[in-house]
Amino acid sequence: MARLVLPCKSSAFVRTSLLGLISSAPLQCTSRVRLLGNSAKRLSRYKRFLTLEATCSRNYRFPYTALPRDKQGSRRLICSVATESFPDQVDESKMAAPKEIFLKDYKMPDYYFDSVDLDFLLGEEKTIVGSKICVFPRVEGSSSPLVLDGTDLKLLSVRINGKDLKEEDYNLDSGHLTLKSLPSGAFTLEILTEMYPHKNTSLEGLYKSSGNFCTQCEAEGFRKITFYQDRPDIMAKYTCRIEADKSLYPVLLSNGNLREQGDLEGNRHYALWEDPFKKPCYLFALVAGQLESRDDTFITHSGRKVALRIWTPAQDVAKTAHAMYSLKAAMKWDEDVFGREYDLDLFNIVAVPDFNMGAMENKSLNIFNSKLVLASPETASDADYAAILGVIGHEYFHNWTGNRVTCRDWFQLSLKEGLTVFRDQEFSSDMGSRPVKRISDVSKLRNYQFPQDAGPMAHPVRPHSYIKMDNFYTGEFSIFSNLGEGLFCLS
Ligand SMILES: [Zn+2]
Repeated sequence: MARLVLPCKSSAFVRTSLLGLISSAPLQCTSRVRLLGNSAKRLSRYKRFLTLEATCSRNYRFPYTALPRDKQGSRRLICSVATESFPDQVDESKMAAPKEIFLKDYKMPDYYFDSVDLDFLLGEEKTIVGSKICVFPRVEGSSSPLVLDGTDLKLLSVRINGKDLKEEDYNLDSGHLTLKSLPSGAFTLEILTEMYPHKNTSLEGLYKSSGNFCTQCEAEGFRKITFYQDRPDIMAKYTCRIEADKSLYPVLLSNGNLREQGDLEGNRHYALWEDPFKKPCYLFALVAGQLESRDDTFITHSGRKVALRIWTPAQDVAKTAHAMYSLKAAMKWDEDVFGREYDLDLFNIVAVPDFNMGAMENKSLNIFNSKLVLASPETASDADYAAILGVIGHEYFHNWTGNRVTCRDWFQLSLKEGLTVFRDQEFSSDMGSRPVKRISDVSKLRNYQFPQDAGPMAHPVRPHSYIKMDNFYTGEFSIFSNLGEGLFCLS
């Protein structure tokens, strides 16, 4: 994942931070202390990350509020989070205390999932999600309860081996569904839930924005889609069937290869996707909406033909030529340098203006904010082109470093991000000028990482505990670039 970084106010620094790619550079220890002072002062003048918390920044201006709606393309970057109303006054004494999660408390799961079949009925008022999961215990004969994460979901039914569970067979609270009295061996679990994407303003899980359905599951968004063991060490093979109105949502996308599609009664249609490789649920993705694509193909090292598609709103397709070039260059480079060949028949990229997470490496369905994909010669600078090359490469490289080889738990986040940052830096260096790339990375290190390491957000590459995983992404310059830097020094 790469966070989108917004510039603030005028500065020579804006150019280097405009597209905000995670980056790193070698640490010159002798100059570190001297640099900290200047950088720390500069830091407070920038709104650095697009987060809910950041909407409260006193130093940040929203310069486009007076523009008419049809001229607010760039404003949507900001308003997708800034327009959320403040919550009602809450009695703090009744709020649950935040729970700190410690690395030392890690336990292997009691149950693993082998396969997951998801079925989405997308609707305007509600969406029904069916899941059918093949479950097996880690220890044969175990009778431990199975605890599933789930937030903002309405449970409709639970079945085990085809039999409906009664209410006394499970516990349901605001964050978990706990199943008791389970079979001693493998079993099939079927759960039906109802959810409300149009009301989901967290922009995690499945949400609706600008008329399209979109997902963001890293780090813990999948629990807002269905009840599941939402942790990276639960890896399963997925199928995903999506059914929706054909006029409103002509494009239905998910991970893997497209196995089936067709029309249904009532102007509805469906698509069935199958991802043959096991993955953690944070890499699940679904997009449904009115999009058009730029199509191309890539022939892999072993001669397989891979279909490439970059999906955007119709008016943006013309601006995706450089992104397609970047994708093909990244696929070729990963084969030549690391021997990593793409492993599916199809690779999709979706670029929409209100994807606030920046860029996300969902298996074979990368989702980007438009700012990180679109470029036209009339308006884009050399730096913009270089940044698009880097971030398209970064998300593609995650296909191996992060997706196929993934984390045990979120304490290992820096491992997948640091290694992938290192890979995207090498890619950009090989495609362009290695010295220029290095100078750019060092500049970011000095301006972002040094101040962070000197402030309250400083933390080790592998922390000992966290309360909310999302906080680590706001600090990604430090933890990701630190590890990327270590790899650079070793290489
Ligand atoms: Zn990443």
